[in-house]
Amino acid sequence: MIGVFGGTFDPVHFGHLRPLLEVRQALALDEVRLIPCFIPPHRDAPGASAEQRLAMLQLAASETPGFVVDPRELQRGGPSYMVDTLLSLRDEQGADQALCLILGVDAFAALDSWHQWQDLIALAHIVVMQRPGGQLPKTGAVAELMEHAQTLDVSELQQRAAGRVYFQSVTQLDVSATAIREQLVHGRDVRFLMPDSVRHYIETQGLYKS
Ligand code: ATP
Repeated sequence: MIGVFGGTFDPVHFGHLRPLLEVRQALALDEVRLIPCFIPPHRDAPGASAEQRLAMLQLAASETPGFVVDPRELQRGGPSYMVDTLLSLRDEQGADQALCLILGVDAFAALDSWHQWQDLIALAHIVVMQRPGGQLPKTGAVAELMEHAQTLDVSELQQRAAGRVYFQSVTQLDVSATAIREQLVHGRDVRFLMPDSVRHYIETQGLYKS
């Protein structure tokens, strides 16, 4: 089973990495692909360049077995739609390989705003990790998807290639890239929020100063 974790990673931080490691262990994923987006469809342009976000992710992932940085969205260019990414992974991995799209609950709650969102569940399972402040929708299209597709049985994820929604509890870390960038603008020390290698990279590149 392969985990797929997309993000802006502007910058990557422990709020990404620790929950992801816990998901990898709980689901016995063979690997987790960390996929930085090129142009995020839902937000302002990132503060760091695509190359810098990729370099930070590579520094962070290199410390953890099973974490693999996958630059396909940067190579593809244009707006980074997850449906295109899953289609290309499905093409490569074949119809039988179980794929798990891993999302924080905030991202999952807004899933119906994603490009061709209804195709996602046919291409992969969706694994949702809680995040401080994140709320699951009680009504609407995403709530309906949960009703139809949720499983409590992790072995179902292994038995099928796609189509199930699964919730994984993870250590709650109230860390966001937005809060980190704000601290850096004010010249604060951001250690213990991300790997030291990433913090050093930010310092040497002079990132997020304004
Ligand atoms: P920003 O603050 O710039 O919006 P972010 O910290 O939310 O960034 P992203 O790169 O946008 O990070 O997030 C990628 C994915 O990681 C999303 O699915 C998001 O829900 C998840 N995520 C980010 N931070 C956390 C966290 N602290 N706990 C759990 N999931 C998280």
